[in-house]
Amino acid sequence: MNKKIRAISLMLVACMLFSVAGCKIRIHSKETTETTTTTEATTTEATTEATTTAESSAATEPSETTSSESSGFPEKGCKIEFPSGDRYLYKMYLTLDDKKNTIGGHVDATFFNDSSDDWDKLCLRDYSSLFLKPEDAGYDGGVKTNGALTEINNIQDSRTGNTIEYERDKDVSVVWLPLEKKLAPGEKMTLSYDFVAQIPTVADRYGVQDGVFCITNFYPILAEYTSEGWSHIGFYACGECFYSEIADFDVMLTVPSDMVVLSTGVETSEAKEGDTKTIGIYAECVRDFVFCGSKNFKLVEGDYKDTHVRTAYFEEEKPEYDKMEAEIALKAAIDSLEAFGSAFGEYPYKDLEVIIAPISAGGMEYPNLVIISKAFVGTGDSDESRKEIYQLSADNVVSHEVGHQWFMGIVGSNSGLQPWLDESFASFTEYIYELAVYPDKAHQLPVTFDDGYYTRNVPINKSYFDYDDNMSYISSVYWRGKQILVNMYELLGEEQFNGIIREYVHEFAFKNADQMDFFNLLYKYAGTDNEKLNDIIYENFDDTVQPPKAA
Ligand SMILES: [Zn+2]
Repeated sequence: MNKKIRAISLMLVACMLFSVAGCKIRIHSKETTETTTTTEATTTEATTEATTTAESSAATEPSETTSSESSGFPEKGCKIEFPSGDRYLYKMYLTLDDKKNTIGGHVDATFFNDSSDDWDKLCLRDYSSLFLKPEDAGYDGGVKTNGALTEINNIQDSRTGNTIEYERDKDVSVVWLPLEKKLAPGEKMTLSYDFVAQIPTVADRYGVQDGVFCITNFYPILAEYTSEGWSHIGFYACGECFYSEIADFDVMLTVPSDMVVLSTGVETSEAKEGDTKTIGIYAECVRDFVFCGSKNFKLVEGDYKDTHVRTAYFEEEKPEYDKMEAEIALKAAIDSLEAFGSAFGEYPYKDLEVIIAPISAGGMEYPNLVIISKAFVGTGDSDESRKEIYQLSADNVVSHEVGHQWFMGIVGSNSGLQPWLDESFASFTEYIYELAVYPDKAHQLPVTFDDGYYTRNVPINKSYFDYDDNMSYISSVYWRGKQILVNMYELLGEEQFNGIIREYVHEFAFKNADQMDFFNLLYKYAGTDNEKLNDIIYENFDDTVQPPKAA
């Protein structure tokens, strides 16, 4: 391997580390530093081994099983339709104050009790308060920056007209609202409240840095109600703990008039008044509403079928490189929509925004919007080497984050308790992207079972909290999870494995899925008596999802 290729290869690993972490690793954290060093040391071996594994597995014929079904999948490139039934609706009147770094306003959240239990209280998640100042911390959780507790006022239940006094949990992000009148199964209500959240000045997925506002997980949102009650697991910075119901968002957003804003949903109006402008935005069938804004954003734009794709970037010392990076990211996003649309069902939204921003993780996914870190690009000593590095970053990070539009966005899941359902699947989409864009050299990422990173004694379908540390979580849920899904793909073949995933997406679109929802379909089509498949499952998943062992 020559020096240049090796340098790119090392970069690739670094990108992957940060990107998958993008999911969230802090570049300056102790774990990351140690891990990066270890990773670099074994890159060559890991790459070689992964290639060998991929080649040998690829030669294996899809196996026959006696009890499998072979057809009935939704066709490739099928449409994913929005459901016609009643949905939650958030009407929001928001103002971003870029002098005080606050975001706030009024929210009318209309929802219904979709469980069979009476709700005698509601749970809101207030993730913004996790960024409060260290001296104000007296709570659990948090990332301890210069944010503040979110002010929440005038909380009202539409049914009674009465004001609700909230109770903040020991976990600062958990806000309880006792209901004077229970909400019965099927009953509807509108919860109204005012809020002001402090935007921390950090290079994070939520925060402002270098004039770029990443306004995500910023408003108090209704938690997900499950068979265990309200889901309010603790926040963790490495990964996602966000879990919410599909809703429509009808937003009026006021920002400085010279700010370029990209958001979840479609812009429906814009009105200027003095030095501000108010943008009307409607987002249909999404789990969250986020936006990014900067006075320095420049845009490159393109289309994939009915979806308009925009990449926002800002210029540094060498604007031509910044634009090159944005164009590469834009193309990777469009290629991802095409590859995943064919494999899993077409992206059902009219917009996709790709934001290149100064955040400390490689990338982060939100409905209709992904944030890609500026942090790990910009090296290379010539146009050509920069371009190669940008391309590798985009191939890895953009495809992963766009893949989340299917696995997190369209099919939701509990990303804290079953993180493999979104992260292993999003990592697997990187492979689907590679197959589509580089059919001759797919799966060159250094993914292997035996390089010492994986926590082999922890099945990959455990919760975030079951892993010893962030690195074992990432190496299992992202890297090993990707390899396992690739192995299943190679074993069952593209027709069957992608067909199963397509059916999974089709069946659980705009719902929250459980891991058994995937395994039930896998067993339905591949059988429970496929020995090679069962070996993969016994080795990597816990017994809650395994098929019965043969006597
Ligand atoms: Zn991810």
